[in-house]
Amino acid sequence: MTDFGSVNERLSKDTFTTDEEESHISIDQELARLTGDADMLCRICPAHVYSKGEDGSIQIEYAACLECGTCLAMTHPGVLQWHYPRGGMGVSFREG
Ligand code: SF4
Repeated sequence: MTDFGSVNERLSKDTFTTDEEESHISIDQELARLTGDADMLCRICPAHVYSKGEDGSIQIEYAACLECGTCLAMTHPGVLQWHYPRGGMGVSFREG
């Protein structure tokens, strides 16, 4: 059986080019709170992009995004504005 390594080992081979000027994710804080999506986002993202700040607002560490789309698929319409990072930015997946 082929050993593909752990998820963390495989993810550690990926590289990220951060768009320092523009986040590809933004959130409607009030709608996220009202729908309960705020808490859900902090649990479902495999890259732990979302966290709650001391004031209860959702913080977004977009540079770590794996561009899997899970957050967009799971939230109510209008909670997130999400698009792929601008050309050449974001995650580059590597194998081997
Ligand atoms: S696209 Fe995936 S990795 Fe990126 S923020 Fe959403 S759930 Fe997290």
